[in-house]
Amino acid sequence: MSISAGPYRADTAHLPGKCNHYGESFDEWGEIHDEPNAWERIKTGEAIPVNAGADRARIARRVCFHCA
Ligand SMILES: [Zn+2]
Repeated sequence: MSISAGPYRADTAHLPGKCNHYGESFDEWGEIHDEPNAWERIKTGEAIPVNAGADRARIARRVCFHCA
């Protein structure tokens, strides 16, 4: 599973291809890979730092409701 945390709404996690916030350019995006149940855990309020992607300083704190 891969989740992206993008610059459009800070700290919001998106699922690949699920909404138009998932941008054309990934230059500023962090990604979460190999984190068990990451989406569900973010949904329930856990903050999960990205561990891949271009911007590794991001922390996913909420899920995009378009993607959910
Ligand atoms: Zn989204």
